[in-house]
Amino acid sequence: DPYLAAADRYRGTDYRPVGRSGLLLPPISLGLWYNFGDDRPFATQREILRCALDHGISHFDLANNYGPPYGSAEENFGRMMIKDFGPYRHEMIISSKAGWDMWPGPYGQLGGRTYLLNSLDESLRRMNLDYVDIFYSHRFDPDTPLEETIGALDTAVRSGKARFVGISSYSAERTRQAKAIADDLGTPLVIHQPSYSMVNRWIERGLTDALDDLGMGAIAFTALAQGMLTDRFTSKGRANQHGSSRPSFSSDAARDPKIIARIDALAEIAHRRGQSLAQLALVWVLRRPTVTSTLVGASSVHQLKENLQALDNLDLSDEELAEIDKYAID
Ligand code: NDP
Repeated sequence: DPYLAAADRYRGTDYRPVGRSGLLLPPISLGLWYNFGDDRPFATQREILRCALDHGISHFDLANNYGPPYGSAEENFGRMMIKDFGPYRHEMIISSKAGWDMWPGPYGQLGGRTYLLNSLDESLRRMNLDYVDIFYSHRFDPDTPLEETIGALDTAVRSGKARFVGISSYSAERTRQAKAIADDLGTPLVIHQPSYSMVNRWIERGLTDALDDLGMGAIAFTALAQGMLTDRFTSKGRANQHGSSRPSFSSDAARDPKIIARIDALAEIAHRRGQSLAQLALVWVLRRPTVTSTLVGASSVHQLKENLQALDNLDLSDEELAEIDKYAID
């Protein structure tokens, strides 16, 4: 069945600018860290990806080592580019990253020029793309001069393999340094990808101020705390649902009675608004304009649709925000 994207896919989504750049992103973007590896049926992946594009999710976030195994999420996404998404390439913002471990040896991780540029070439090959829209340095590398890391991002742009570049999980101070280097080179370093959620508020302690000063935007990751900030993990929800299959999932936190009490309280606030906890968790990270978009992961179309419905009510009153602050503690 040849894929035809839904004609009304842009109805009902307000795209938001990344900092002071001209790049627009949907408020909710899809991340492919988990659920798109070779351990998941391609048919399910295809259903989720089609549903995303059909609902105006124009941004797909990948990295070299997403899977499992490493590289397989990009390969599966590359199959989608050939099977379904080819005609829509110019309507999509696709990102990749390099920084975490990818292959053995001294050139398979961190922030050196050799690794970053080799990895970008490999990512493009796996995804069947000529360029990515955003290429990220996935983490700060204390042993490589920042000029070299940002210089490699600049080369990616100048060689036509990336349209914009970004950094992920850099501190406020490193972000300011990176931006200064990029500005000198004339490289469009426009976006930062940090973790941010109701149980992880580190970006509020300096990073968002830095991004505002620098005219950069943020795209949040793990806004759902890998599934913990959903109705599955309230005291009621956990009784009848499976936990998380992810090795990276913080099961200790999910078992901590203090955290369960907070999840219950946050879920009650969500339900009073007619939202699920997942929906409130997404609305909450989007409340500040610095956060252009939030990534979500989804293992089913059902989850993705539930998450997208967060956009039906993005308003949070001062009273709600104050109440959330009592439980949104990290
Ligand atoms: P999320 O916090 O978005 O969690 C996604 C998981 O939560 C899903 O796999 C699913 O779990 C569960 N879930 C999602 N929606 C619902 C729902 N409505 N109801 C119940 N459960 C739900 O975290 P991710 O780790 O997936 O991160 C999102 C993206 O952020 C990644 O895919 C990646 O693109 C990016 N990222 C970037 C990082 C970086 O270093 N730059 C690091 C981590 C992520 P289940 O699969 O168990 O059903």
